Amino acid sequence: MSHGWDSTLVFSIPGPLLASAAIGQLPDNARPHRGNMGSMHRVVIVGAGFGGLSAARALADERVEVTVVDQRNFHTFQPLLYEVSTAGLDPGDVAYPIRAIFGRTPNVTFRYGTVTGVDWDARSVRLEGTDPLPFDWIIVASGAIAKFFGIPGAQQFTHPLYTLADAGHLRDHILRRLEEIDAHPERITDGTLTFVVVGGGPTGVEVAGALAELLDVSVRHDGFDFDRSHARIVLVDGLSRLLTPFKESAATYAADTLKDRTVELQLGRMVKEVTATSVELDDGTRIPTRTVVWAGGVTVSGTIASELGALSDHNGRLVVRADLALPDHHQAYAIGDAAAVPWGKDKPGTTCPQLAQVAIQSGKHAAQQIVNRVEGRPTLPFQYHDKGMMATIGRRAAIAEFPKGRVIRGTLGWLAWLGLHILYLIGFRNKIIVLVNWSWRYLSWTSGPRIIVGEDMNAHPDPDDGSGIDHPGNDADAAVSPS
Ligand SMILES: Cc1cc2nc3c(=O)[nH]c(=O)nc-3n(C[C@H](O)[C@H](O)[C@H](O)COP(=O)(O)OP(=O)(O)OC[C@H]3O[C@@H](n4cnc5c(N)ncnc54)[C@H](O)[C@@H]3O)c2cc1C
Repeated sequence: MSHGWDSTLVFSIPGPLLASAAIGQLPDNARPHRGNMGSMHRVVIVGAGFGGLSAARALADERVEVTVVDQRNFHTFQPLLYEVSTAGLDPGDVAYPIRAIFGRTPNVTFRYGTVTGVDWDARSVRLEGTDPLPFDWIIVASGAIAKFFGIPGAQQFTHPLYTLADAGHLRDHILRRLEEIDAHPERITDGTLTFVVVGGGPTGVEVAGALAELLDVSVRHDGFDFDRSHARIVLVDGLSRLLTPFKESAATYAADTLKDRTVELQLGRMVKEVTATSVELDDGTRIPTRTVVWAGGVTVSGTIASELGALSDHNGRLVVRADLALPDHHQAYAIGDAAAVPWGKDKPGTTCPQLAQVAIQSGKHAAQQIVNRVEGRPTLPFQYHDKGMMATIGRRAAIAEFPKGRVIRGTLGWLAWLGLHILYLIGFRNKIIVLVNWSWRYLSWTSGPRIIVGEDMNAHPDPDDGSGIDHPGNDADAAVSPS
């Protein structure tokens, strides 16, 4: 199940930071001024994820006019979405308004809108419901989406974890299942309190560990009186071990820690089918459940990057030259998850995994190549600088693996994981709030904001199919407005 994706979900150990705080802090006399940019080259950046923001930041003091376009008005810190989905953090803690990042940067503006295509001849970006946006240069940083491998029922009945809306919806769904069991204790055996997590990469491991903590805290602090031993968390992966990009010892540590925390592992098992009330595995095992979290893979097929008429690989990622430009459209660059980013001379012929660090580094590189070309200099090939990987299993249990092979785990690994995520979060307020939240929860043993935001009380059972699943989309939007 996890082939080709586990390595995409690993956080890199510190390095050059996104330095969100630095954006907008350029000395005024170093900046081009709005209104005086008529002759400047226009750069459009599609997407304000890690890659798009990094590119925009690298162009912030250059003599180009930058427009960042995103279908959301906020940047999402995806590595902490699992915390939102398990009621550990609020949605607003892991999101940041894009306008607040660039509001004081004269040569960078934001356009809230959905890109529907590119007119290469006219050199303009098509936007839904409004005029096209002309460009001289374009950076495609539109990311990826969940991949369901064509497994029957997977798209329809599982909860992917890719956007803030996904996370908010999943949180509501999980909390509703707890309330449902409180009102109907007899349902404990029908899968209402069984949570299946598909995918044994870092996201799957993190969700499973956090769910175990949420269930513990619910019984211990929230007055739920279901029998905790009847609540199940099942982690399924097609490979025979967890966390495949990590060393075997790290995978064993993760497996042992999860088992200690009551997570059942179904490794070497493929999901065959998902229905409204169960998951069937390839060995015939049927797990009754109302909640399937999909952390099983990502793809670029189906995103705007796959609609550009440009060369792409088997997973939809845009093929790029060594300097990250598109081979058939030299004025276009592709970065981050949307691109098959070449690793560089350290590993010729290898493409980078879909990681935050890759997006950050490739975004900066693409921006620098545009500046080189605007100023008449040759472009340079990209080189990825591997910073290592991290994954957390929960309280006082995480793994950090450094490029030269050193591994730290347990409490030390966990502290490193906490520190790194706080460092990378965008916005001083978010950093402080997350730090306070985590410290409070650590000291008090309570959980975070266990709030059902969606107001559709009848989301369960779903009237359409009688399944008991409140399908994604019912109430997600209400759950996620960043504060
Ligand atoms: C749950 C989860 C956990 C993760 N954990 C880790 C981790 O621990 N460590 C790690 O290194 N990596 C992690 N990753 C991967 C990491 O988040 C990605 O590699 C990184 O976000 C890629 O950055 P990006 O800029 O390429 O794309 P994204 O961050 O996905 O940004 C793409 C942006 O493009 C916008 N967009 C897309 N289509 C359009 C359109 N048509 N019009 C306008 N805007 C559009 C989107 O709204 C989005 O803002 C995780 C990913 C997920 C989903």
